[in-house]
Amino acid sequence: LVASLEQVEQTYIMVKPDGVQRGLVGEIISRFERKGFKLTGLKLFQCPKELAEEHYKDLKTKSFYSTLIDYITSGPVVWEGVGVVASARKLIGSTNPLQAEPGTIRGDLAVQTGRNVVHGSDSPENGKRETALWFKEGELCEWTPAQAPWLM
Ligand code: ADP
Ligand code: MG
Repeated sequence: LVASLEQVEQTYIMVKPDGVQRGLVGEIISRFERKGFKLTGLKLFQCPKELAEEHYKDLKTKSFYSTLIDYITSGPVVWEGVGVVASARKLIGSTNPLQAEPGTIRGDLAVQTGRNVVHGSDSPENGKRETALWFKEGELCEWTPAQAPWLM
């Protein structure tokens, strides 16, 4: 069973600053690799304030908005795959780590909502929008996995 190309979605996964500082980058990336998603872009950098504000613009009116912008400063990665948006949200777990199921990234590795180690796009549209925001033209790779056609 091989999915058609129209089914391929893009999502933007970000290891947040606490994940980077706690040395969880490898652990978090590893979970997406083991699940079977194809990595198409990866970068580590300090997030400028304007980019964080654009990324989280839908949350502008929330009381925690300014602390959220302060929190987000480094460490993004991008993943692409069939149904990856919803699947990645499941792997990540609930926003509040205390409500996230054991076995999920937040359920296993985080305690506070304000330090929940990872971000994942919430829709295919936002997957595209956020990927375009964080990665420039030419920074994503096109490649074919040798032994796993379901990664296509
Ligand atoms: P998610 O990251 O699960 O999609 P949201 O999009 O609702 O969650 O919120 C974005 C991020 O804002 C959360 O991951 C978390 O870091 C932060 N956040 C959300 N709610 C709160 C809150 N009540 N207090 C502090 N930070 C919050
Ligand atoms: Mg969100």
